[in-house]
Amino acid sequence: MTTMSTTLPIPFNRAAITGREPAYVQEAIASGHLSGDGPFTKRCHGMLEAITGAPRVLLTTSCTHALEMSMLLADVAAGDEVICPAFTFVSSVNAFVLRGARPVFVDVRPDTLNLDERLLEAAITPRTRAILVVHYAGVGSDMTAIMAIAQRHGIVVVEDNAHGLFASLGGRALGSFGAMSALSFHETKNLTCGEGGALVINDPALAERAEIIREKGTNRARFFRGQVDKYTWVDVGSSYLPSEMLAAYLCAQLEARDTIQARRQAIWSTYDTALEPWAESRGFRRPIVPASATHPAHIYYLLAPSLDVRTRLISHLRANGITAAFHYQPLHLSDMGLESGGRPGQCPVTEDVSDRLLRLPLFFQLGDDDQTRIVDALHAFTG
Ligand SMILES: *Cc1c(COP(=O)(O)O)cnc(C)c1O
Repeated sequence: MTTMSTTLPIPFNRAAITGREPAYVQEAIASGHLSGDGPFTKRCHGMLEAITGAPRVLLTTSCTHALEMSMLLADVAAGDEVICPAFTFVSSVNAFVLRGARPVFVDVRPDTLNLDERLLEAAITPRTRAILVVHYAGVGSDMTAIMAIAQRHGIVVVEDNAHGLFASLGGRALGSFGAMSALSFHETKNLTCGEGGALVINDPALAERAEIIREKGTNRARFFRGQVDKYTWVDVGSSYLPSEMLAAYLCAQLEARDTIQARRQAIWSTYDTALEPWAESRGFRRPIVPASATHPAHIYYLLAPSLDVRTRLISHLRANGITAAFHYQPLHLSDMGLESGGRPGQCPVTEDVSDRLLRLPLFFQLGDDDQTRIVDALHAFTG
């Protein structure tokens, strides 16, 4: 039976809004302090430090910029190599390519779609400066194995944790394993301020230099704390701090994190339960979460049996007014990836998964009726 409401399109994503955001933005405007590092930024820093357990968290203008900061802090330079998974977003790689370093792409595990730690040691050379791990869908990479290998070779580890705020691994917050990790508050992420991010600094020795790099290479933060009587240019840097209006929006989201996360977890679990028999009978694989990991309900994905089936399923869903998305073209086969030495067949799991992965709509405001419509449309897909 078709009614008007069932024909309304269901988008892939909508930015979360929980209630207090406009009032907080208004408050930031009324305060007259619109540049960065005002009271809302400090509240965000405090909440993020409590959530991650990190000694220092700094808001940035994006996760991309937090990753750029991490590569400056790790002294990644021309001629260096940085190991990263081939199945990730381009920001993970640009962060160090901007410094003149070369990406060394490693394939991912077929279960978690994270960097395959069994391939890591063979990718290390005397030029390896850093390992950049990505926790796909906020399901942790094998950080015990990765940290052990990195420590043995004296290589710094940075976690691109754009998906993994609120997730844990072996009871420890995801993003707390490497020297640094990066968060995203882009509108496609669980918490958002439109465009934003944070650098999570786990190694306290990096905190002061991080403040300097984020403030155009100046010791302005020390000046404001009264530790120096004037501020000056002391290091390289850029402008990586977001305005108070963005921090105000984010502050409201952080305060409402339990509400946002509870809703997302409910949607994720409903998909997983409702689709289990269908997926099994039609050869779709559902997400795999290792027993030691908790995930933040960032992505609900399915792996179709083939590219052809995925293409037909996306069309079928579109015909029902539902937008589903695929994810990550293999980076080693992109124009830039090929230029830096990538070749077909180099990362077979990435190449295979990239053809078959399909993400379903998952956002805070997705209603029960809409989710039922999505599940019904999937059940009606006969291949
Ligand atoms: C979203 C995302 C980024 C980039 O985040 P921005 O805040 O938009 O810069 C980086 N890495 C991964 C894995 C992402 O999903």
